[in-house]
Amino acid sequence: MRLTPEGPALQPVWYEAPFEKGWIDICAVDVFKTMVFLQQGDQPVRHDGAPAPDGTAPLDDGILKAEDTLQQDWEWDRRFTPSGGAYFAFPYSDLWREAVVRCLVKWALRQGYTIPVIGYWPAGVKAVAHLSHDSDLNIDASAETTLDLLKPFAVNSTWCMMEPGYSPHIYERVKEAGHELALHYNALEEQNGKWDRREFRRQYHWLKEVAALDGVTSNKNHYTRFEGWGELFAWCEECGIEVDQTRGPSKGGDRGFVFATCHPYKPIAWHDEENRIYDLLEIGFLTQDLDLSDYWGKSDIVFPLLDQVERVEGVAHFLFHQVHIHNSESVRKALKTLLAEAIQRGMPWWTSQQINRWERARRSVRIEKGSISAVEAELDVTSDTGLKRGVIHIPLEERAEYGQVTRRWGVPCLSIVTDIAPGTTSLKMELNQGEGAR
Ligand SMILES: [Zn+2]
Repeated sequence: MRLTPEGPALQPVWYEAPFEKGWIDICAVDVFKTMVFLQQGDQPVRHDGAPAPDGTAPLDDGILKAEDTLQQDWEWDRRFTPSGGAYFAFPYSDLWREAVVRCLVKWALRQGYTIPVIGYWPAGVKAVAHLSHDSDLNIDASAETTLDLLKPFAVNSTWCMMEPGYSPHIYERVKEAGHELALHYNALEEQNGKWDRREFRRQYHWLKEVAALDGVTSNKNHYTRFEGWGELFAWCEECGIEVDQTRGPSKGGDRGFVFATCHPYKPIAWHDEENRIYDLLEIGFLTQDLDLSDYWGKSDIVFPLLDQVERVEGVAHFLFHQVHIHNSESVRKALKTLLAEAIQRGMPWWTSQQINRWERARRSVRIEKGSISAVEAELDVTSDTGLKRGVIHIPLEERAEYGQVTRRWGVPCLSIVTDIAPGTTSLKMELNQGEGAR
């Protein structure tokens, strides 16, 4: 029997059971497994996935790729844009994370404790936008068109380079303009690529050499080619590549949150590597080449996607190929509209390097100990690399009458904005003033 949203409720998702002197809060869903399945699939990629019944996403294309172990339902998990394009509409995984944090925060408060939580982005930034390009046909003029288009917007992007690449002077111009050069690993057999550890390494060294780079932060696979479980992530680790951005839609009909997340996350290994966490951030993309063709769909998808990314405070990652920017007036127009829309919403355009640096610094922050009274809060915060204008949310009891509070996870929060230095910092804050830490 296929379960449907209209079917009878099976049982409550969250419920409480008394236990000895206290209680146990139970979630009927295996949340963390659900998140991993949504983000990485339920098994290694060994076969093509099932196509969308409406023909919009033929995953059975004879090419192994990230979506072949897609966990979402073509019928129930897609919505339609105003122009009628089907897309995966919700970052379920990010919403589950928020639900777990909400529980922890509430349970702690109920016990008379509080759990401070580091904000996702610097103070004042709700969500971040990210633009990447894949060099596919490697036409120099298409790189120049892209540079010229981005310049008036002062937006920096991440340029994933595939062999044989651009002429050397293009790399210099790309670097001078402040953009990031990254790898576009080609493992597509039809185009002389190969899914192979040594081949990945060879292409990485090729890029370092031709573009005169000390290192490469980021990779995206051509055609979102993907195989197995964590092989690609391990190859990235071996080369010191800290970001992968391969996991996104390769078909028009699975645009949007195809892997249910817009947050950078570290993938988990299969049991053969004892479920270790890879030292790699996955930053998946949401769409390709808006308004290129009917197949790739219209750019009106941008608005619901940006709304959802802001809702969960994630990264709105859009992929545009330089060659399509060069050849298509409608793609150029869609890109300009997108750049302006994110800027207007206050979402900064960050390269993958910037996102990587911030996210790793944020993950290194730990709150070692702290205390809170009616008049002041004290926290010892440690960090490996430091964090500029970080935000620390301190959930408070509902009845407490403090100064300025924000509301998060359904409770009042004191939100402290502070520069966190490398090492240990002691923060002290008077609660009735609501202004930054001393
Ligand atoms: Zn490509």
